[in-house]
Amino acid sequence: MKVAKFGGTSLSSAEQIRKVCRIITADDRRRLVVVSAPGKRFKNDSKVTDLLICCARQFLSTGKAEPELQAVIDRYSEIANDLALSKQVIDEIIADLHGRLQKDTGYPERFLDGLKAAGEDNSARLVAAYLQGTGYDAHYIHPMEAGMIVSDEPGNAQVLPESYGKLSELRKRAGLLIFPGFFGYSEGGEIVTFSRGGSDITGSILAAAVHADLYENFTDVDSVFAVNPSLIAQPKEIKELTYREMRELSYAGFSVFHEEALLPAFRVGIPVCIKNTNNPDAPGTMIVADRQPTSQLVAGVAADKGFCSIYLSKYLMNREIGFGRKLLQIMEEEQLSFEHTPSGIDHISVVLREDQLDPDKEARVLTRIQEQLKVDELSVVHNLALVMIVGEGMRSSVGTIARATAALAKEHINIEMINQGSSEVSIMFGVQAVDADKAVIALYREFFETV
Ligand code: ASP
Repeated sequence: MKVAKFGGTSLSSAEQIRKVCRIITADDRRRLVVVSAPGKRFKNDSKVTDLLICCARQFLSTGKAEPELQAVIDRYSEIANDLALSKQVIDEIIADLHGRLQKDTGYPERFLDGLKAAGEDNSARLVAAYLQGTGYDAHYIHPMEAGMIVSDEPGNAQVLPESYGKLSELRKRAGLLIFPGFFGYSEGGEIVTFSRGGSDITGSILAAAVHADLYENFTDVDSVFAVNPSLIAQPKEIKELTYREMRELSYAGFSVFHEEALLPAFRVGIPVCIKNTNNPDAPGTMIVADRQPTSQLVAGVAADKGFCSIYLSKYLMNREIGFGRKLLQIMEEEQLSFEHTPSGIDHISVVLREDQLDPDKEARVLTRIQEQLKVDELSVVHNLALVMIVGEGMRSSVGTIARATAALAKEHINIEMINQGSSEVSIMFGVQAVDADKAVIALYREFFETV
């Protein structure tokens, strides 16, 4: 059995949905299908999820959202008409959307999640209806009835372990099962969504639950590329990646697969294949537990912006027992999640996502560090980007950092920080955000274009 997930661009129009249905029905192992909400049809188009968020926000602030709701209805109507579905299908979608707007607005985040989930939910109903209309035994699967139970954190749900047992029973169901991505239900029966792009997570959970042979993730590119294609024309396509490599690349900005989606598949060792709905015969990128070493040292180069680093130095820090704990305790008490802590004998930096700090909070954190840890030096570097080179091959090779730093030096890029993560499959460079693209290009050229 395969689990196939289709992303937003694959569901964006009737034409795309026909392609999706051809792909589903071309392989009878594709029995459990996860769908996203209709995404963008062209560059400046809106995703239905964004239209729904707009609608919910407008309703929350003014008690009305007619034009916003109409924009969503129009997207579904157009698709339903082009697919020649019965009027009943679109009437049900309209009734569903109105119903969601009638829910209690007292807990805005919950209300918002109710609307956000409508994108995938109605997409699944529509695809199931289309498949039925073309003669297939297809069924919309209700996530609550199927057992997708998640933590009650609106916009950031985590699947609860008990979900897997119940969801595994989907394996026994006959026909094509069309499951809406992106949300589940709390134990109290409320809709709760995963973080944005979370239909990938649904697919991975289902693949793990039914012990699928393969989790196919259909998107709109032929494969994962070794670098962002907007920076390098025709970059190298990646044929195979390990879960570890994909994890690091997703972390550092590869958006083709959701960062949180690897874990469920990885835990039970289900291979993931990233494929293209618009070119399903292309082999795509396989994500697997282990891969044969190749001559390609680095698998990919990525960068993500929006970081800052709090730098502290104190003479004899290395001998001061409890220093690290006290520092991280301040982070915890200030509700700051930190990303990395590169350190030396007398200094340590804490790298954070910058959007967690505002000027007041930053001042308070610095004062606390100064007062409680009595440091000699304390400063914050803003606007950092983390640039990563990722590859299993680096573990057993010599001179990778030297090549990388030389490539950056040639471009006059100042490295603010280096961290060769304990994982050894990645090396991270902190650079000023303005240098990030230049750094990625320089590293790509060094490891992919230099022989
Ligand atoms: N539709 C949701 C979003 O745009 C989830 C997804 O597409 O995976 O975030």
